[in-house]
This record gives sequence, C-alpha cells and structure tokens, in this order.
Amino acid sequence: MVIEKIFGTCIRNIPSTENVLYLTFDDGPHEYCTPTVLDLLARHQVQATFFVVAEALQRNLSVGRSIVAQGHHLGNHSLDHKYHHFFGNDRYLKKWVGRARDFIEQSLQVQTIGFRSPLGIQTPHLRMALRDLQYPLVHWNQRFFDTQRGLPRTAILHRVPQFQSGDILLLHDTHIKYGHSFLEGLEFLITYTKKVGFTFKVIPSDLVPSNLEVTARCL
Ligand SMILES: [Zn+2]
Repeated sequence: MVIEKIFGTCIRNIPSTENVLYLTFDDGPHEYCTPTVLDLLARHQVQATFFVVAEALQRNLSVGRSIVAQGHHLGNHSLDHKYHHFFGNDRYLKKWVGRARDFIEQSLQVQTIGFRSPLGIQTPHLRMALRDLQYPLVHWNQRFFDTQRGLPRTAILHRVPQFQSGDILLLHDTHIKYGHSFLEGLEFLITYTKKVGFTFKVIPSDLVPSNLEVTARCL
C-alpha cells in the first residue's frame, strides 16, 4: 500500500471468479487492420479494450468512432508511442499522458480506462505522474509477441491452458505484416477460449484501487 501511495496503481490482471478474460489491442487505430478486428469481434460478440495512440486516432478518427460505437472500451497508449519521453521528469510525463488522455476523451466523448506505456516501459517518474493524474497503469499478464511472429495456433494451444480468470491479454490491431493469418489466429483464440469456458469483457472504466484487489503489481 505504501508503494501505491508513492507510485500509483499498476494493474496486470483483474482477479475474478467469473471465468472472464480481457482482450486488449494496442497501437491503433489502424486504417485497415482495426476494422477487420472489429468485424471479427462483432461476429463472435466479443467485447475488448483498445489502447489507442492519440496521433493514430487523429489520423483515423472514424475508425476510433467505430470502436466506441461497437461498445468496446478505450485506453490511452500515449500521444505518439515514442520512447524518448521517458527521460522526462514527472511533470513532463504528466503533460504527455494528460494531453493524450484529453485528446482521446474529447475526440470520442468517452472515458479512458487508464494508461498503458509503449513497450511497457516504467519509470518512477511515470508512476508519480500517473498517481497525480489518478490514472491507473494498465498492463497485461498474457502476451503473444504477435507483432514479431503473428498469432500461430501452436502458440495459442500452448498458452490457453495457462489462462486464469481475470487475465489481461495483450494483442495489437496493426497486423498488416501477418494479415489474414493474424485474423485466423484471433478467431481460433476466441473460439478455443470460449470452448474451455471463458467469456470476454471490456476492462471497466472505474479501475480505482479501492474497487479492486490488485494481486500483481508492476514493481
Ligand atoms: Zn505499443
């Protein structure tokens, strides 16, 4: 608790007894890839959370509106996805994160659920900035390295048996390199996890420490 007072909250999973998983997609919205992901999610009636980059949203505002219209939630994946900002102090980072939050929320008239830093980078100054903004750091505890190797069935078959209720899955909606095979992998991931009894939910927009038993911390 002392750590949270100094550095703010970091969430990697949301423990639950409901057999629920949280799909998250980073780095969009992408002009071509995001709509294909949205179509697939709609066909399977799955809700997800999209951690958007403000500059990408500015270029693809109509795609952002489609994300919201389909009932998915939005998170903040920074203004520009550049890493040099992490050399800044807490005041600087507060402005960087806050500008992205304001842009996303004002453009789409939504509440963002929190911040996910590019590459998962964390610094004490970032944690202090988020604490001041009262904005949780929302990372993940299951990843597939899909930007490097797509989403092959072998990886899914290996990983799904390890899933626990409340896990947050990291994927990307910028799969231009893997195209159709990524979508096939995503469809297999969704159908397989449903078959073994999981459902999917959006990450709630009221992630405050008092509402949540945070079992895994990022420090
Ligand atoms: Zn990213």
